[in-house]
Amino acid sequence: MRKLLRGMIIYFFVLVVPLVCTASICTAQVPKMIALTFDDGPTPEYTERILDILKQKGIKATFFVTGKNASAYPDVVRKIVADGHVIGNHSYSHANFQRLTDEQVFNEILGTQQVIYQITGHSPKFVRYPLGFETPAAQKATRELGLTGSVGWHWGQDVHDDDWMCKGVDPTLRFTKSATQDGAILLVHDANEVTRCPDQLAWLGQYIDWARQHGFIFGLLRTAEAPNKINMNTWVNVVPDSQAQRWNE
Ligand SMILES: [Zn+2]
Repeated sequence: MRKLLRGMIIYFFVLVVPLVCTASICTAQVPKMIALTFDDGPTPEYTERILDILKQKGIKATFFVTGKNASAYPDVVRKIVADGHVIGNHSYSHANFQRLTDEQVFNEILGTQQVIYQITGHSPKFVRYPLGFETPAAQKATRELGLTGSVGWHWGQDVHDDDWMCKGVDPTLRFTKSATQDGAILLVHDANEVTRCPDQLAWLGQYIDWARQHGFIFGLLRTAEAPNKINMNTWVNVVPDSQAQRWNE
C-alpha cells in the first residue's frame, strides 16, 4: 500500500506537474506582482496626469500624500480615491523625523490622518516616513494609531537615475526597470522636483507596458506577517487589488 502511494506521488510530481506547467498554467496561476507608490503629492496637474495614465492602463496605485499638500488640494485627493487608488500617510510637512521632538512626530502623523479623514471620510492604513527615516517616536505613533509603517520600497540598481533627478524618460525607465522584481514596491514621485520636468512623465505608460510584457501585474499593499526582505524589511506585502487594505478600518 505504501509502495503504491509512493508510486502515485512520484507519478504526480515527475509526470503530471511538468505536463501542466509546460502548458503555462503554473506561471499563469502565480503572476509576478509589483506595486507603484507615488510620494510627496498631491499636486494639481501633475498628479492628475498620472491619474489619467493609470486610468487608461487600468491600474491601481498607492499615493503617499503629505497632510500639507492634501489640505491644499483636497479635490485631487478626492479624485485619487474616486479612481480607486489608495491614500497613504507621508507625514504633514515632510520633515525629517530625526530632527523633531516625539510630540512633533506624533502630530505629523496624526495631523495627516485627520486631514485625510476630513477630505475622504476614511483614515489611511499605511504610513511612509519622510525619506524613510525610522525613529522610536515614529514607530510608537504608528503603533498607537493602528497603522502599518514605515512602508519601504525596493531600490533599483540604477539609483543615480531616480525619477526626482529629472534626467529624462530613458534614465527613469532604466531606474524603474532595475527596481522591478516580484513583490517589489516601486517608489516614484508626483510632487516637488518631478513637476519641473513634466515631459519625463512619458516613462510611466511605457514602463507599465514593459512590466506587463514581462509578466507583472500591478497590485496594492497589505500588512505582512513578517518583514519583507525585498522592501527594506518593512512589514508590507504587495497583493492583488481584491486583497488590499485600503483604509484603517
Ligand atoms: Zn517623500
